Amino acid sequence: MRNLVTGGAGFIGCHLISELIMKEENVYCLDDFSSGKRFNLEKWAKNKNFHLIEHDITRPIDIDVDKIWHLACPASPYFYLKDPIKTSKTNYLGTLNALEIARKNNSPILFTSSSEVYGDPNIHPQNETYYGKVNSIGLRSCYSEGKRIAESLCFDYLRKHSVDVKIARIFNVYGEGMLEKDGRVLTNFICNALNKKSLDIFGDGEQTRSFCHIKDLIKGLIKFMNSNFNGPINLGNPYEEVSINKLAEIISKKINVTLKINRFPPLEDDPRKRKPSIKRANKLLNWNPQISLEDGLDDTIIYLKEIL
Ligand code: UDP
Repeated sequence: MRNLVTGGAGFIGCHLISELIMKEENVYCLDDFSSGKRFNLEKWAKNKNFHLIEHDITRPIDIDVDKIWHLACPASPYFYLKDPIKTSKTNYLGTLNALEIARKNNSPILFTSSSEVYGDPNIHPQNETYYGKVNSIGLRSCYSEGKRIAESLCFDYLRKHSVDVKIARIFNVYGEGMLEKDGRVLTNFICNALNKKSLDIFGDGEQTRSFCHIKDLIKGLIKFMNSNFNGPINLGNPYEEVSINKLAEIISKKINVTLKINRFPPLEDDPRKRKPSIKRANKLLNWNPQISLEDGLDDTIIYLKEIL
């Protein structure tokens, strides 16, 4: 089986490639290294089943493959806001090019969409039938609207060209392999706590996120790819919704430090509450996240301690 993984040098991509390589499948990892890292791929440099394609997915490319995992796009606000026009292009042109590869090969394509398509939601938890509340002209729009237009494209390729698309909406993933400078709250807090630096909290800190461990997510993605469903399907951990204030407290306690907290105004369009409904994933994929935030954080702290 030949798998194309776009964005394979990123956090989710390299965990997915590990699984595929373990199953002795062939992997074509496509990345332009704009946010993905070469060191994530070094371990497969001599593996005959691993092939690197250094390419920017916003430009068309022909590749013969059997399955496509379309992950390419910076995912942390810190990275996707650095070059918002490139982020929009990656979402639109990148997905268009990935769908063209799928159409030409008649292969299934799994697209990693995001909880960002729900914006700052006014229903809780968010289920897949909710259309979302998204600002189309805000700072985050390049990512949230980008994921939305990419989803539209996927469904038009399904309707027009019968491409077997699968849309996974991913909610806040974390774990071993994240960059220490990823910019997201969990890595910022852990790294600052390990370095005994103060923590920055935007807004009142009562906004929530639900954190899903990378190992649970990868299981969900593989089940989805092997299914007959198109989705969209939420993949996230509804059992681990915490406020940012609570997260700061949990991490300080785990690392055993008392830290100063700097308070800043809220970020524009920052979702106040985020938690997936995963009834669809339960029912259709028989998927349920297993790893608690307690255990997942312990792993992540050990990993970040090693790399710091
Ligand atoms: N946040 C924070 N301090 C940080 C980083 C993030 O208070 O150092 C807040 C941010 O405003 C948001 C939440 O934590 O409300 C999650 O932000 P993150 O960048 O991790 O990802 P998001 O879920 O917003 O994509």
